[in-house]
Amino acid sequence: MSNIDYDLFVIGAGSGGVRAARIAATHGARVAIAEEYRFGGTCVIRGCVPKKLFVYASRFSEAFEDAQGFGWHVSDPKFDWSYLVAAKDKEIARLEGLYRGNLERHNVSVFHERAQMVDAHTVRLSSNGKLVTAEKILIATGGRPNIPPEVAGVSDVITSDEAFDLDALPRRIVIVGGGYIAVEFAGIFAGLGVDTTLVYRGEQILRGFDEDMRSGLNEAYQKKGIRVILGQLVDKVESLENGLSLILSGGEVLKTDKMMCAIGRSPNVADLGLEEVGVKTGQNGRILVDDAFRTSVSNIFAVGDVCDRVNLTPVAIREGHAFADMQFGKMERHVDYEMIPTAVFSTPEIGTVGLTEEQAREKFAQIEVYKSQFRPMKATLSGREERMIMKLLVDVASGRVIGCHVLGEDAGEIAQMAAIAMRMGALKRDFDSTMALHPSAAEELVTMSTPWVEET
Ligand code: FAD
Ligand code: NDP
Repeated sequence: MSNIDYDLFVIGAGSGGVRAARIAATHGARVAIAEEYRFGGTCVIRGCVPKKLFVYASRFSEAFEDAQGFGWHVSDPKFDWSYLVAAKDKEIARLEGLYRGNLERHNVSVFHERAQMVDAHTVRLSSNGKLVTAEKILIATGGRPNIPPEVAGVSDVITSDEAFDLDALPRRIVIVGGGYIAVEFAGIFAGLGVDTTLVYRGEQILRGFDEDMRSGLNEAYQKKGIRVILGQLVDKVESLENGLSLILSGGEVLKTDKMMCAIGRSPNVADLGLEEVGVKTGQNGRILVDDAFRTSVSNIFAVGDVCDRVNLTPVAIREGHAFADMQFGKMERHVDYEMIPTAVFSTPEIGTVGLTEEQAREKFAQIEVYKSQFRPMKATLSGREERMIMKLLVDVASGRVIGCHVLGEDAGEIAQMAAIAMRMGALKRDFDSTMALHPSAAEELVTMSTPWVEET
């Protein structure tokens, strides 16, 4: 295909798209990428990175309180929301520059505009309608927050996209949802001093996580004053002169300044030209791909959140990298979706890898549960009530550790390291024979010797 403009055209410069473009270019491919918003995508611009910066900010309120138990006297700390937003914006602009610069350094042609497929080898650029041709097209357009149509556009109803750039910190917020984003933002807002209520339709927050983590975090949240309302939906939203009035399915009326919808995300597939080109989609509009990220059209591929499989940054990056290696580096690649560690950056944090207790009981004939609940050493002087929970699940037949769940400080860091051992097939006896690192919280993972017996 000699008269074709590029070997690869990537639509979307987020985690997956940027990695794929860069790696394909290092393999010698002629690559172009289009980004309609900002380079770096959700993770960098309005996801993981600003979220974690806000989590850090939110944790200082407790740190100031805890400091007193160690002899520090911090008088009347004040928080400045505009300062935090500006500092976050500066850091994100820096990262965005790095992402874009990195693409340009690898001779990737960068189009800062929307792209739409016209046929299997042609993309239309939005600014001037110019048509660009490519041998292969990669769709890496990510996802967008869901918002019920009846509240879309209602002032004071926001999603995570807007939460990062509010003009002012609200005095009260109601967050709807019980997944990652709802739970993380409840912790952020509460830590920053906002009167925070979480409304979730299910019986316990964080469906899909281990029950001990779910109930442990719920308890911790309630103790710090976050109101968690379970088993209810917001039936009606009314705008008031100042803020909103929310009527819950149980009849209660909540008055609030802002309502944040964190009810999941959908693949970003609108007006991409999928139907015209014949790319098949599944539930919720997700693009269907095979193990090599190939869609139903043989030269069109898709990676990341737009495929709605495991919607995490490292997964999108790994998929983009594997795609580029396979298509332009003639390499065999396989992305393994087993034992992906993940954290919920709540306060306290959850870190997890492997199966939940419920999943382990379903999958294996006999399991052992090792569980420890304790007051972390820091809390002895700070006086904080919080407890840490650690849990290991073991398949009795093989002795393998098949689940590790941590609630408490640095849980995400702990889960990342446990994931290495568990992916290598570590047995409980390998954990036991590992010397403890003392004094640490993580040492509990190598010192739990007796299986947990439920009290009856
Ligand atoms: P994205 O990063 O979303 O990139 C897609 C890009 O495509 C976007 O920049 C978009 O503007 C662009 N685009 C879309 N359509 C077009 C078009 N037609 N033309 C041109 N450009 C287009 N994951 C974690 O692992 N850890 C976390 O802590 C974490 N926190 C998160 C917090 C929040 C609030 C959110 C929303 C997500 C979080 N995630 C986290 C998930 C993570 O951000 C995503 O899994 C990841 O960004 C997916 O990467 P992607 O490349 O598939 O898509
Ligand atoms: P999640 O899928 O995690 O959670 C969505 C929540 O909204 C669930 O509690 C769900 O309830 C609830 N819900 C869904 N539909 C409705 C509805 N119509 N009305 C009321 N509640 C509803 O999505 P998030 O938006 O929180 O996050 C999107 C994804 O982004 C995550 O799944 C994750 O992959 C990624 N992410 C990762 C983070 C991390 O790694 N730390 C942080 C943030 C996001 P139910 O459980 O009953 O279905």
